Amino acid sequence: MLFNLSKLCNKSVMKLSVNEKINLDKINAFGEEIIFNAPVDLKGTFINKDEYIEFNGEVSCNLKLICSKCLETFDETFEVKIDEKFSRFEVEDSFEIPASCEIDLGRIIEENIVGYLPIQKRCSESCKGLCPICGINLNLHTCECKPIVEEEEEEKIDPRFAKLQNFFNKN
Ligand SMILES: [Zn+2]
Ligand SMILES: [Zn+2]
Repeated sequence: MLFNLSKLCNKSVMKLSVNEKINLDKINAFGEEIIFNAPVDLKGTFINKDEYIEFNGEVSCNLKLICSKCLETFDETFEVKIDEKFSRFEVEDSFEIPASCEIDLGRIIEENIVGYLPIQKRCSESCKGLCPICGINLNLHTCECKPIVEEEEEEKIDPRFAKLQNFFNKN
């Protein structure tokens, strides 16, 4: 979504508030495609600071995510703070304002959301994940598989004891 900053650029206003619903389709985060369930809500204020235009605001979005543990999809709402600078000059950490004075708000929102998303996503704090042996979703079903942890413990023999055992076997 292109947003026109010309009023701020030509200083006919020094402050501009936005309260917009913006349609975004999907974003790519960590090689994963993430779908927006609804238009995002963007609220904030652009302020002309002479050398640059500052934006301070917040975006609220509802995303369809895949749980990293059980691989089920779930919806989650995120409130993401956005603080960005825009400039026609070379100002550090700022987005360039093109001659048209139109900036792509959608892209800025997307970048901020991607930066905010956790890499490990959980459908719930108590997600039990998948059984590592049969792959069943342990949130919905139970299985008879023996947890790997126990198996490892059974096989683990104290190396000193193993040596002793070898000694007895030989004699
Ligand atoms: Zn889960
Ligand atoms: Zn199992």
